[in-house]
Amino acid sequence: MSVPAMKAARWYAAKDIRVEDAPIPSTGSKQVKIEVQYAGICGSDLHEYAHGPMLIPANVPYPLNGHIGVTTLGHEFSGVVTEVGEEVKQVKIGDRVVVEPLFRNPESPFIVTGEYNLSEPLGFVGLTSNGGFARFVVVEDYMVHAIPDNMSFEQGALVEPAAVAVYAVKSSGLKLGQSCVIFGAGPIGLLCVQAAIAAGAATVIVVDVAEKRLEKALEIGATQVINGKEKMFRLRLSNSLPAVQIFILMQQVYRQHTMRELLV
Ligand SMILES: [Zn+2]
Repeated sequence: MSVPAMKAARWYAAKDIRVEDAPIPSTGSKQVKIEVQYAGICGSDLHEYAHGPMLIPANVPYPLNGHIGVTTLGHEFSGVVTEVGEEVKQVKIGDRVVVEPLFRNPESPFIVTGEYNLSEPLGFVGLTSNGGFARFVVVEDYMVHAIPDNMSFEQGALVEPAAVAVYAVKSSGLKLGQSCVIFGAGPIGLLCVQAAIAAGAATVIVVDVAEKRLEKALEIGATQVINGKEKMFRLRLSNSLPAVQIFILMQQVYRQHTMRELLV
């Protein structure tokens, strides 16, 4: 009897991702199967594609689940629950869900304190297990969160990166009525713009070197944008600086001209 198959985008090696048939996964007692509706491509997926393996356990199995080798990528996704293990309580078949893709080691001392993000070894759905670039994905029950009816699946696929941005803004200490500068207007930087506005920032200045991204930043509510390639970039920024209270630096700008300029 042949095993039921689905299409999946699977990582074999750097520059080698294949869309091919893969077996449809089944659930363990504390696992949830999700039919994927939307999935986003994360920067970490690009890193695995460009020069992986980074986090994919290509040679040694990931200790928490034994996963090794060929991996279906994708951890930013939304979908509908189609199967639950017998011990799963918090979601049921038909629920609309997203996942918080971090693996938790039950023996980590951080689980007790609620800081499960510090649990080791670090593991992610779609990197240390098969992920959401497929019709179906199976995840651990503690990863699954139901989404409200008024949230679309497309929006749902953005919940994980949006959480990163909300956390960045929260950690920055930004308070109501303050001003901030956000360096880097990639997807996370742009989500930071929205999170900063939602947190009550009065002024949100965005610096990037790509005009298209700066246009998008303005469209979603940035009060001022500055192109880091401009000759007067530092002057324009320093003119705005006396009013600025908070700086939020997104990682992707480190390699860019803007960051070099800033450090001079
Ligand atoms: Zn991600």
